[in-house]
This record gives sequence, C-alpha cells and structure tokens, in this order.
Amino acid sequence: MAPTYTMAGGKGPNSYSQHSTYQRALLEVAKEKINEAISTKLDVNSASNRFNIADFGCSTGPNTFLAVQNIIDAVEEKYRKETQKNPDDNIEFQVLFNDHFKNDFNTLFQTLPPTKKYFLAGVPGSFFGRILPRDSIHVGHCSYSLHWLSQVPKGIADRNSPAWNKDIHCTGFSEEVVEAYQDQFKIDMGCFLRARGEELVSGGLLFLLGSCLPDGIKMSETMKGMLLDFMGNCLHDVAKEGLIDQEELDSLNFPIYPAHVAEFKSVIEDSGCFTIEVFERISHANEELPLDPAFLVTSHKITFGGILETRFGKEAMEKTMERIEEKCQDILPQLANAKSGMQYFIVLRKN
Ligand code: SAH
Repeated sequence: MAPTYTMAGGKGPNSYSQHSTYQRALLEVAKEKINEAISTKLDVNSASNRFNIADFGCSTGPNTFLAVQNIIDAVEEKYRKETQKNPDDNIEFQVLFNDHFKNDFNTLFQTLPPTKKYFLAGVPGSFFGRILPRDSIHVGHCSYSLHWLSQVPKGIADRNSPAWNKDIHCTGFSEEVVEAYQDQFKIDMGCFLRARGEELVSGGLLFLLGSCLPDGIKMSETMKGMLLDFMGNCLHDVAKEGLIDQEELDSLNFPIYPAHVAEFKSVIEDSGCFTIEVFERISHANEELPLDPAFLVTSHKITFGGILETRFGKEAMEKTMERIEEKCQDILPQLANAKSGMQYFIVLRKN
C-alpha cells in the first residue's frame, strides 16, 4: 500500500492545529461565497429534517470546525428565509469528518467547539474511494487537500524510466515528469469526483478550496515551488554529510501536484457527475507566505517533517530543518520575485 502522509497531530507549537492560519484565512474569506452559493444554488428536498455535511481531508481542526460552521450558518439562514421557521427546532445537522486512518482524530474530538449543535462521526479512509453511503450527503467540503495525490506517479522514482524525476516534486520543467504527474492527478481527481458523485444527493453542493496554478505558470516559478526546490537542496547538503543515503534521496518524490486551472476544469467536466457553478480565483490576507525564516521552517516541519522522518530518520529530518533555517536568508530575494500561484474556490452541483 502507498504510504499516507498526514499533517503533524497534537496541539503543540509544531502541530497543524496551531499552525494552519494560512489555510484558515481562505475559509474566512470564503464564508460569504459559501453563504451565497447555499442560498441560491442548493436544491435539496427540505422535507427531510436531517442535514448531512461531510468534510473531506479535515485534519485535526480547528479549520474544519470553521468550514462546517460556515455551511451550517448558511443552511440555517436559507431555511429561516424560505420557511419562516426556526431551524433549531426543525433541522438536525450531522457532520462527518473524513481524513486518512493515520490522522490525529483524538485531537479533533478533544477540541470540538463547545457550542457545536451537531451530531458527528469520524470517517477514516482515503477520499479517493467511496467512504459514505450513497445519496447521503447534502453538502460536501474539501479544502487544501486535493493537491495530495494517492501515490507518487508511475516511473517518477524509477531511474530507468524516461519520467525519472531527480527533483523532489513536479517543478514543471520536464515534459515527461509533468505528464506523469498530470496523469496521476486525472486518475485521482476522477476517483474523488465519482465517489462524491455517489455520496451526494442530487442537487447537493460540493465546495472545493485550495491552491492550484494559473495556466502557463510552472510550480518552480511560484514561491511554494521555490521553497520545495530549496528543501531539496538542503536535503542534498545533508546527504553530502552522510546522514541521508544519496540513492534514497534521488528516489524521493512528494506525491503533491497543484494542478493548472484548465486541467482541473477538464477533469470535472469529464467526470460527468457535477455541474460547475463557480470556479474562481479567491484572494486571502495570508496568500503570500511571510518571508520569515522561523515561519518557513515551521511550515516545512509540519507539512513534510513526518514524511522525511519516516523516510530518513529523525536526526536527518532535524538536520534538514536546521539547514533550511541557516540558508533561508539566502533565498528570500528570489522568493520576493516569485510568480503568483492561485487559490481556488469551486462550487459543484450534483447532477
Ligand atoms: N481541510 C483542512 C486540512 C488541510 S491539510 C484545512 O483546510 O485546513 C490536508 C489534509 O488532507 C490532511 O489532513 C491529509 O491527511 C488529508 N488528505 C490528503 N489526502 C487524503 C486522502 N486521500 N483521503 C483523506 N484525506 C486526505
């Protein structure tokens, strides 16, 4: 089975729960748009008083709680307007929190907002397959998760393949590598959409938010891509010191791929399960990562520390983070000239 990568668990200073304000900022600006989409585009049978919401790739919180609350507030407002009745007396919300089995669900449950008014369940498992009953979900949500592929694409880590990738991610400069990543994205996203197509009720909405690339921009031209390249260089330094096996490092590739807008759109259209209601660029206050070495090291550690530790051991991971901190100043001018990536806000309506 392909290894799964989850965010750092727990509630400490190096945990996802304490270090996810970047992602949170997008959910904050999306609130109004989610409200509008639910008010004008959600078309589900309101005769039922049970309303089911699922968050795919929820991590440990607190962002998922905000995402879910945004949806509940919008549904309640719509219900109030349309029926003049009090939703508290009439709708029962059930929230399904999904992430990989290895996700720290304990932290999620321990930090639930005390004011929550919903029933809930954790649903561990990969969202690339169907994990919920057919026709059971009214609104689905997935933020900052779809750039994670189900596996490193075929050929990428194989020295004898034309798609062998010496970099640790898809920089955008090798055609064969790009093609391999694109193919994997198409397969994974197709699976994701077909699974959600079965789980969502007809007329239900699926909100997708996260990072992608504007058409024509290569990953390594953006700040996030430059940071990945930089982490690759630091790993090579640590390999030269003997703490990481060079061959092992040459075969390291992260299964991440922020797709281009056109690829995203075409895979949704091809799936045939959903109509694109909204597909837009959305900006948020934290969009440009702060050019602050301490912040950048913590981000790397939270997102990639687990993977590096599993692969090369704790000492090598710690050494790599030290290198990142030492050398970070040197790349700040380059980062300042990076091309812009893009945050997306997508609303899909189940056909
Ligand atoms: N939605 C949260 C967390 C984003 S972090 C937020 O916006 O802040 C991305 C999450 O996606 C991680 O917790 C990771 O474990 C999860 N994830 C990635 N691939 C997944 C998959 N195939 N199935 C389920 N969860 C997945």
